[in-house]
Amino acid sequence: MTVLEVQGLRRSFAGLRAVDGVSFGVEQGEVVSVIGPNGSGKTTALNLVSGVLRPDEGRVLFQGRDVTGLRPERLAEAGLSRTFQNGRVFGNLSVAENVLIGLTPTLRAARPLARWRDIPVLRWVSLLAETAVALVDPPSVRRELAEREAEVESQLDRFGDRLRPRAEAAAHTLSYANRRRTEIARALASGPALLVLDEPTAGMNPVETAEVLEQLLALKAAGQTILLVEHKIDLVMRLSDRVLVLDAGTVIASGSPDEVRNDPRVIEAYLGK
Ligand code: ADP
Repeated sequence: MTVLEVQGLRRSFAGLRAVDGVSFGVEQGEVVSVIGPNGSGKTTALNLVSGVLRPDEGRVLFQGRDVTGLRPERLAEAGLSRTFQNGRVFGNLSVAENVLIGLTPTLRAARPLARWRDIPVLRWVSLLAETAVALVDPPSVRRELAEREAEVESQLDRFGDRLRPRAEAAAHTLSYANRRRTEIARALASGPALLVLDEPTAGMNPVETAEVLEQLLALKAAGQTILLVEHKIDLVMRLSDRVLVLDAGTVIASGSPDEVRNDPRVIEAYLGK
């Protein structure tokens, strides 16, 4: 079954064609990676797929339904969860409460504000406002957490002993890598049909990166469908069923890791640099 189908996506910024006619599909249980040089349109493509940006042209079909232009929170409800390059968590909430937000529909009040975050001048305002909304009613958050503790703990356990001992810690006290793990746990909490990850190992050291790779391989083995953007080519090659190579907003190659690795256009545009 095709989980995601992207048809002819285009998006320009002030005349610059960031994504210029991109089409691809993601089948159930597949891991598809998007690679390419800086500025080739990878993040814009993810933003178009996950509803953060609207395309100028093209369509996004998710589980057979046209979801083009739907907002991220609606897509999340439909089963498309994503993480962001810089690891977005609610700093004043605990790790467990952050995961709970991904799990529970009653805390969705915070989500509509997320759509402002890609407008640079509103980013910090919206992050602060989001946190405030999530903190408006801490007793109800705590109550709900108690009820759902086992589900939250099973999400934390994905990351070995990295998150579980820190379940009660405020997210702003975490290391960068743990913030990113928390964000992934939150995205997985709702049991998404498609997990979209923007550079899940950006800023991580080799040990942390290897750990995330193992965790993503475990998710893949469990049948999780994943679309990711990633720079670390070794991780991409080990994890992916298919790799899509972008250059200047267009797909210049796609195929198995081996096909892509040996493609002369890819070597010239990206791997050879
Ligand atoms: P990548 O993720 O491959 O590094 P991006 O999708 O971030 O590439 O960017 C593709 C191009 O679009 C770049 O030239 C970038 O400067 C431009 N771009 C991306 N987002 C914006 C934006 N919000 N406003 C203006 N230009 C943008």
